[in-house]
Amino acid sequence: MALINCDKHGKQGVIHLCTHLHKQFEKKTELDITHQIKKDLSGMTIYLCDECVDKNNLENIEILDFDDLQKIGDDLWPICGKCLI
Ligand SMILES: [Zn+2]
Ligand SMILES: [Zn+2]
Repeated sequence: MALINCDKHGKQGVIHLCTHLHKQFEKKTELDITHQIKKDLSGMTIYLCDECVDKNNLENIEILDFDDLQKIGDDLWPICGKCLI
């Protein structure tokens, strides 16, 4: 798992959020997470909102392949896994 150096928690596992969920995270509102999608190779965890899932036709995909990641890659924000909990 990739690591991130968090101000509060030190080295922690990374979770990637889409732009929309990241905005909610910054506002400290409850995240509207409806989809949890894992990349298979690195085990990277990616949370996407419904809008992003719809936009990229990922409804039935649990594990992203490289092409899927390319589609959403620019919109992903890495954050500390512990900050999210
Ligand atoms: Zn989104
Ligand atoms: Zn943290």
